[in-house]
Amino acid sequence: MPDEMSRPLIRGRGGGGGSRHLEASVSEPGAPVIGILGTGDFSRSLARRLVASGYQVVVGSRIPKRSVALFPEEAEVTSQMEAANQADLVFVAVFPEHYSTLVELKPALAGKTLVDVSNGLQINREGPSIAEQLADLFPESFVVKGFNTISAWALQVGPRDGSRQVFLCSDSQKAKSSVMQLCHRMGFIPIDMGLLSSAVEIENLPLYLFPSWRIPVLCTLSLFIFFYLYNFLHDVLQPFVTAGKSSFYKMPIETVNVTLPSVALVMLALVYLPGLCAAFLQLWWGTKYKRFPNWLDQWLTRRKQFGLCSFLCAVLHAIYSLCLPMRKSAHYKLIDVVFKQVKDGKEVSWDDDAVWRMELYLSAGIMALGLLSLLAVTSLPSVANTINWREFSFIQSTLGYCALSMATVHTLLFGWDRAFDPARYHFYLPPTFVLVLILPLMVLLGRLALFVPCVASRLRQIRRGWEKSRHIRFILPDDDCRNGLEDVSNVVASQQIIWKLFRRI
Ligand code: NAP
Repeated sequence: MPDEMSRPLIRGRGGGGGSRHLEASVSEPGAPVIGILGTGDFSRSLARRLVASGYQVVVGSRIPKRSVALFPEEAEVTSQMEAANQADLVFVAVFPEHYSTLVELKPALAGKTLVDVSNGLQINREGPSIAEQLADLFPESFVVKGFNTISAWALQVGPRDGSRQVFLCSDSQKAKSSVMQLCHRMGFIPIDMGLLSSAVEIENLPLYLFPSWRIPVLCTLSLFIFFYLYNFLHDVLQPFVTAGKSSFYKMPIETVNVTLPSVALVMLALVYLPGLCAAFLQLWWGTKYKRFPNWLDQWLTRRKQFGLCSFLCAVLHAIYSLCLPMRKSAHYKLIDVVFKQVKDGKEVSWDDDAVWRMELYLSAGIMALGLLSLLAVTSLPSVANTINWREFSFIQSTLGYCALSMATVHTLLFGWDRAFDPARYHFYLPPTFVLVLILPLMVLLGRLALFVPCVASRLRQIRRGWEKSRHIRFILPDDDCRNGLEDVSNVVASQQIIWKLFRRI
């Protein structure tokens, strides 16, 4: 009995004899035999997942004995040639540098599907892709690119965790369909990326490092450095140079806390500025069919990232502000005020203006942060997918402008009447809040201009396809050589041609 129990239920592990040991496995009858070349991390995880999905698996190794213990009992580990002979569909889990060592398997792999799971070392913009190179090496096989974006870890834990999308491409529709079917059965979501020429794109996917974040992050950092230096000059250096007063203790918290909201507000204005530029350009051109300049296109597509950077700065500003009373310097300032009060016997009078300013200032700030949080949450793909386009644009546009207005009011209340106090213009430089307000006020005024009824209705018309220079059809005068094909151009062009025709007559 103990011997019975210790014996594998499904089959015994052979020494790689060439027979199909898989016949007795739990795999479904009729399912293709899946081969894997290579016995590394990816191969082991893939074998586990395939066996769990009910496939017969045969693994091809240069030295089968070395890795046999690392694979599940149900998978057969044998020589590369044997695996290639037995399998109907083969995963090439070998680094591309070693593909040339597999050429002797060419006859065994002819007419079979080869899945190239490899990744390159760096972004390949020129091509050819690794998959295309594999297809050149095995012209009689059908190469499918895929699974390279799925890590060995994700394969091992299964599709419940990590990425579930598998990007696939191939020149053979049949081969691609069979891999798609396999994906479905393993619990992954296949995404058809078309022909094998798309492989270069799929191979680059895991190599990108936040490509859409580079400009927004650089912009945030540049603004942070600029405003930090400006505030340092204004609030720390100026009192030191002019009155010998050391305020360097402000550098880690106070200066940062004045810098963060400045960056947050400017970044938020930068979210809405490209939309305004696009609207004014369309009004100027009188058409929506003219391409925006490249920089504007890029800016429009990165608005979400600009918004999220702004949100991060606003949250940090809120946290810093909450921590302000905890500082030793704040305690000393408070004690100083009380001491002066006791010493002079004067009572600090209730300043109605200052009280109201602070109440309104805080309230506007909290509202702005709340609205920004809503925008950030709805920008998450999982949340955005649950709302329709109108709801999305209402939140991102209408509520977004409300957030910008609230943040602007918050800054205006912070400034109050201090913008008109000459003593605030240290080194002839305006206070930071004056600088910060320029862009948001321009954006808000621009948005108001678009609300003017005649402007709004013209913009609406343009966005429904109306054009200033209406297109008409005409036949070019020397169109004999163009077989009388009709062309389309604008009124001005057609008028010039008609004028030329008249002159000829
Ligand atoms: P690995 O652990 O280094 O395994 C590579 C295997 O290739 C070796 O175990 C070896 O198995 C086999 N091989 C065959 N011919 C070889 C040769 N001439 N020289 C050296 N090895 C040879 O690599 P891996 O992490 O499994 O990755 C395999 C492929 O999957 C790569 O193309 C990689 O880009 C891709 N991939 C990996 C991951 C991942 O998370 N690891 C994710 C996506 C894609 P034998 O000694 O038994 O022949």
